[in-house]
Amino acid sequence: MTTAETAMESPGRPLHGSALSVRSLSHSYGALEALHDVTIEVAAGTICSVLGPNGAGKSTLASCIAGGITTSPGSVLLDGTDVSREARFRRARRGIAYVPEDGAVFPALTVAENLVVGRRGLSRRQRHEVVDEAAAIFPFLGKRAGTRAGMLSGGEQQMLALSRFLVQKPSLLVIDELSHGLAPAIVDQLFSVLAKFRGATTFVIIEQYVKRSQELADDVVVLSYGNVALATAAAAVSLDELENAYEIHSRPLDAAQPAPPGGAAPGPLPQQANNPL
Ligand code: ATP
Repeated sequence: MTTAETAMESPGRPLHGSALSVRSLSHSYGALEALHDVTIEVAAGTICSVLGPNGAGKSTLASCIAGGITTSPGSVLLDGTDVSREARFRRARRGIAYVPEDGAVFPALTVAENLVVGRRGLSRRQRHEVVDEAAAIFPFLGKRAGTRAGMLSGGEQQMLALSRFLVQKPSLLVIDELSHGLAPAIVDQLFSVLAKFRGATTFVIIEQYVKRSQELADDVVVLSYGNVALATAAAAVSLDELENAYEIHSRPLDAAQPAPPGGAAPGPLPQQANNPL
């Protein structure tokens, strides 16, 4: 059972988005500073997209928010409560859920089993209701409830992963590169579901699709070498400005170490299956 699943069962947790504050957060892996003095504010029920080239610190930030990393200087507050030192399972009890880039579904389990895995004490009827809820989000999940998750396409697995967490009604959902490696049409489907849950949940989405992220998000943050290069309301910045912020803070993929803050040299956009723009 993952910690996120434990969490969603907890009574007394509000079933709506929570405000997130990240204040002066830094994190180093040995001598490598992956995050430096990062401060972001995400209002309850909004979508914040965190963009940045490979190695910018996006996943590290996600882990610091979700509780995979608990020892870093700075603070993480959920609805004003400092959760910085709390382990992931405790944050999960507060409703912070985390969808990792990989491994968010159990391939050997069926779709239905994935949807209820770790949710102890559910009656047969409740388990059916969970599957129905997921099918209301992505109808194919109802039709393929008995299919092993490993038999689904990559896009379908991501839909299953997303719905697994959405049906648990987290107060904050941190999603690490939901769109990774997926065709644009699938990304559009996933993003339209996120848009429908705006307000019900607060989202921090780690992304590389700049244009789609700007269209979806209320706020965008561009990370560069562990620093916040840009933090703005999505509507307050043009796509050109956003792409420029992303591009000028990119660096060659083969760079061994992040450049020091302020020392970013212009580099190419990261190579990946999908053009991030
Ligand atoms: P990507 O898009 O490639 O996943 P990212 O923006 O998510 O990149 P991080 O994964 O947070 O960036 O990594 C930031 C920096 O920290 C990178 O230089 C990375 O090599 C390094 N790093 C990440 N995790 C570790 C770790 N466990 N040990 C050592 N260094 C790490």
